[in-house]
Amino acid sequence: MMRDPREHQTKAVALLRDGYRRGKRRLILELATGAGKTFIAAIMIEAARLKGIRCLFIVDAISLIDQTVEALYREGLTGIGVIQADHPMTDWSKPIQVASVQTLRRRGMPAGIGLVIVDEAHCQDAWLTGIMQSGEWADTPFIGLSATPWAKGLGLTYEEKVTPITMRELIDLKLLSPFRVFASAHPDLSGVKIDRGDYHEGQLADVMSDAKLIADIVRTWKSLGDNRPTVAFCVDRAHAKKVKTRFIEAGIPWGYIDAYTDRTERKLIRDQLDRGEIKGVANVGCLTKGVDWALGCIILARPTKSEMLFVQMVGRGLRVNDGIPDCVILDHADNTLRMGFPTDIRHEELCKAEKGERAKRVNEAPLPKECSACSYLKPAKVHQCPACGFKPEKQSDVEEADGFLVEITKTKKRATLEEKQDWHAMLRSIQRGRNYAAGWVANTYRKRFGVWPRGIDESASKPPSQEVLNFVRGHTIRYVKGREKQAA
Ligand SMILES: [Zn+2]
Repeated sequence: MMRDPREHQTKAVALLRDGYRRGKRRLILELATGAGKTFIAAIMIEAARLKGIRCLFIVDAISLIDQTVEALYREGLTGIGVIQADHPMTDWSKPIQVASVQTLRRRGMPAGIGLVIVDEAHCQDAWLTGIMQSGEWADTPFIGLSATPWAKGLGLTYEEKVTPITMRELIDLKLLSPFRVFASAHPDLSGVKIDRGDYHEGQLADVMSDAKLIADIVRTWKSLGDNRPTVAFCVDRAHAKKVKTRFIEAGIPWGYIDAYTDRTERKLIRDQLDRGEIKGVANVGCLTKGVDWALGCIILARPTKSEMLFVQMVGRGLRVNDGIPDCVILDHADNTLRMGFPTDIRHEELCKAEKGERAKRVNEAPLPKECSACSYLKPAKVHQCPACGFKPEKQSDVEEADGFLVEITKTKKRATLEEKQDWHAMLRSIQRGRNYAAGWVANTYRKRFGVWPRGIDESASKPPSQEVLNFVRGHTIRYVKGREKQAA
């Protein structure tokens, strides 16, 4: 017996059916973590089953099979079998089959399937993509599930995405938890190379393992974490272990999980967290999938340029839990300052580009600003800090810096994309000419425009104008002075 769907879940089913009626066989359901993707899939599966159609539910990792089966049972489905070596639930006669993509890759797709659900569809397994694009499966409907279907090339496999409700609307309806973001640490990532669109992990681990940064994580958690159950996202295993150790040294019991932590141990750690025996868990990305822990605080110690990874990490903290009024996000990675609030990251369409251009964001909200008193991230244009009440003094239009007049970006009129592109190209030329780190361009660009480069051809280069040279000169002097002051 299935429970009654909420309004957005009914809408999701209607949108998926409408897509099918219009002949679409490759649809993605975009829905925030915790808003019932599995339940909606279960409704589709049940409807198919009643018509005698066999269904296949594909998960992204073997480790997710058992919890997926449990979740489908909870949603009221019966008649479930599992395709996996020696699994006790192996039973091909059952109308609903659950399998991992790894197992299917070895064995091939089972025959006689009339509906396929693909969990975590943004992960885009290459083999499965091939199946979905093959003629043999062209008429079989596939429904992808994802909180973040923004991956490059996803629009080459899926035809449309269906978005019954946004994260913002879910929060307003109290179906997801509201959140507050604080960002006090600003790691210097200017020297970190970009590798396939995100920071080079090894170099990132070096920067983020800095003892001062890790000590700041513990200090910030003590003052803002409110003693809540917490998950800390770290760069790699060594980094996560250092974070855990630093908490324990500070007298705060802390756990650790990585991809090799088995199911029994995970359950133990989760129970310890629920009982308050440990306050938090350091991990490396592996808690971004299939985790429904009761959390009240998320530590982002993993800088990323990926909106998907960012929103997946934050999403862990947005489940509504009894006794936890909201989610505190301690962003030590500048992810929010770089990409905006998770609720502002929305994409109109699936991305058809294989590489290069990104999917267009809907309504480019201005990036948040940090309260200088408490490090709370305020929405743009909010003057008085909603967290601590601090009102910054209005800044004057120009400021003296060693004889150079340096304009304050915020009071300038909005630059057009062409102007921004020009500036970026000229900065690129200076960076190359002077052999600066690649990240210097984005940092300087941000000083000029108050936002990170977005929608810009980052490789373009052109000779710098006097205006740009002057700006760079003023800022380089201020930068050096600041460094000297810090050193002293
Ligand atoms: Zn404040």
